[in-house]
Amino acid sequence: MAEPLLEVRDLCVDYAAPSGRVRAVDRVSLTVDRGEVLGLAGESGCGKSTLAQAVLRILPPPAVITGGHAWFEGQDLFALDEPALRKVRWKRLSMVFQSALDSLSPVLSLAEQIGDALRAHDFTGSTRARSRELLQLVDLDPLLVDAYPHQLSGGMRQRAGIALALALDPALVLLDEPTTALDVIVEHQILQRLLALKAERGFAMVFITHDLARMLQIADRVAILYAGRLVEVAPAQTLKRDARHPYTRGLLAAFPSVHGTGEPQGIGGMPPSLANPPRGCRFHPRCELAIDICRKEQPPLVQFGEKHFAACHVAAAHRL
Ligand code: SF4
Repeated sequence: MAEPLLEVRDLCVDYAAPSGRVRAVDRVSLTVDRGEVLGLAGESGCGKSTLAQAVLRILPPPAVITGGHAWFEGQDLFALDEPALRKVRWKRLSMVFQSALDSLSPVLSLAEQIGDALRAHDFTGSTRARSRELLQLVDLDPLLVDAYPHQLSGGMRQRAGIALALALDPALVLLDEPTTALDVIVEHQILQRLLALKAERGFAMVFITHDLARMLQIADRVAILYAGRLVEVAPAQTLKRDARHPYTRGLLAAFPSVHGTGEPQGIGGMPPSLANPPRGCRFHPRCELAIDICRKEQPPLVQFGEKHFAACHVAAAHRL
């Protein structure tokens, strides 16, 4: 079997808080294959953005990686020194942020900032020509090459952020809620363009969103995080028809289907405070199926089918 493009194993990320350390990502392991779209879903604060930033090693303080490994194209990302990491970051592994203003400089034109990224990785051709080409790639007018971010609409800025992330033909792009702030039509257009570019260029994507319905339309596999832990991972179609974790089922029911007639259902209660998470299964205070063991022991990830794992005592007990 081919080596995964990215392998994250037992990743832990802590935030230093006045009351002590708060674990935002707790022993999460996952893989991404070449050309694959892995969706990462869960409610706000579940650790999905923190996980992506940890892989890229751009975690803002006070967050720190406190355990685990991340191998990308065979390299141990957490062991690389800054110069070696800079060669990987952006060139092989890039990121699109929720707000393009987080990745685009407000004081540089698009040509200047795409040019900077290209030159930093020893690009030898015309950076202006390449910038125009990249803008066209994401359906932006190449004449916008001299525009500044504030002169663009939100959708145009996100497209420019994607152009920047694709500038050096990376093997993997991490997309952190790249279309959340956009209206549904622009969101749809950008997602379609991204999928077409992925098909043309063969890069893999880790797509982060809280919108599981949208995720199921574009991802090959989906990983569900809850309160910093991985609770289920499965091929998208499997998850759609056979989710095993009650939290995943709750997420699926929380979004209306485009073709369905049922009313969306919410998940009762709130995610726990990571400063003082519940013992055992962290979902137990919200789970209608909780039994005694759920309040005492953390459920391990158990295999339910091909590439399908879930961490639930009750689901495991009813496994065929
Ligand atoms: Fe619910 Fe128990 Fe499964 Fe957790 S382990 S999701 S509390 S049934």
